[in-house]
Amino acid sequence: METAAAERTLAQVDERVAHNYHPLPVVIGSAEGAWLVDTTGRRYLDMLGAYSAMNFGHGHPTVVQAARDQLERMTLVSRAFHHDLLGQFAEELTDLVGKDMLLPMNTGAEAVETALKVARKWGYEVKGVPAGRAQVIVAHGNFHGRTTTIVSFSDDPDARAGFGPFTPGFVAVPYGDATAVAEAITPDTVAVLLEPVQGEAGVVIPPEGYLQQVRETCSRHDVLFIADEVQSGLGRTGRTLACQHAGVEPDLYVLGKALGGGILPVSAVVGDRSVLSVLRPGQHGSTFGGNPLACAVGLAVVGILRDGTYQRRAEELGAVLADRLASLVGRGVLERRVIGLWAGIDIDPALASGREVCERLMARGVLAKDTHGSTIRFSPPLTIDEQDLHWAVDQLDAVLDDLRAGR
Ligand SMILES: *Cc1c(COP(=O)(O)O)cnc(C)c1O
Repeated sequence: METAAAERTLAQVDERVAHNYHPLPVVIGSAEGAWLVDTTGRRYLDMLGAYSAMNFGHGHPTVVQAARDQLERMTLVSRAFHHDLLGQFAEELTDLVGKDMLLPMNTGAEAVETALKVARKWGYEVKGVPAGRAQVIVAHGNFHGRTTTIVSFSDDPDARAGFGPFTPGFVAVPYGDATAVAEAITPDTVAVLLEPVQGEAGVVIPPEGYLQQVRETCSRHDVLFIADEVQSGLGRTGRTLACQHAGVEPDLYVLGKALGGGILPVSAVVGDRSVLSVLRPGQHGSTFGGNPLACAVGLAVVGILRDGTYQRRAEELGAVLADRLASLVGRGVLERRVIGLWAGIDIDPALASGREVCERLMARGVLAKDTHGSTIRFSPPLTIDEQDLHWAVDQLDAVLDDLRAGR
């Protein structure tokens, strides 16, 4: 494809696709491992990894083979009938994360919605909260998806403005403040919903002890602790689940993104029987949730995670990344937060916006995404070569040098 054809794609997207994103002006035509290739043949290192949905690399042979095999066998029967993979997928995924049961959905937002519905129903039927009064505590700076209910408890003005009226029943408290969670609990509280590390907020890592204290508070007050691990889970932080860093076990995990192996949306709520068994036929569902293709891909992902190779890789490469980013602090970087192979990098806003840094990185062959003005997130495929990771930081270093020199 020539440059003119790429220009045509940009024009078509601008003309015919709603402007709910502001993509960098690059048109990707193929991908392999941690590399993306544009339609003119230029290679870029993928330092976004599809917001951590691409943890095992583009075209991971095991995942692709599982999908290919399943594609030819059977792809969709709906939950009206059984198919031969859902039971196995449920057993293997729940065993991986140490829970009893799962409820399969497709996107992360749907799984968050599912967890909220389950928590409310549990609150009324098991905890005994009076009808219509259930409350869920969430954190400021949260990102849990884009549905009307989920944006109801977002505090990002872009996510909310113009989309009301909002769903009631949510109380937001500062992230990282366990006392604020404890103080917000009332007899009507059914759940606390948190990201163990806030992804979209810019890889915000809570203080030591936070998740443990929230867990204790929830247990003491008979409140469900729901961990949204859609972005933090499945290897990204150096553990299968980010909650494992704190040795904390929530009542419900919300999983998504990487669960689909970078091939299709696969999400799930995973939890204890005592909670998920509040749902009975007809009370919740999804035409595509738990479909055979999704289960085949999900099984391949669980298989990859079971031996811990990628978790160890995330931890080891994360240490390399943390080390390299530390050397940029004071040279255009105000602060960096790193856990596993996942980094939030705050650029000095006096130097450049996050967007401008990403544009300059793109010109140097590195694709990354800014968030909240001046933060850049790195979440490359965990399969990235160590030299490539160094090279990506070299490019950021060079971009910051250029900006400081006024080039
Ligand atoms: C991305 C994300 C979601 C939403 O997932 P979608 O598949 O985009 O609906 C929910 N929670 C967290 C923490 C996320 O990062």
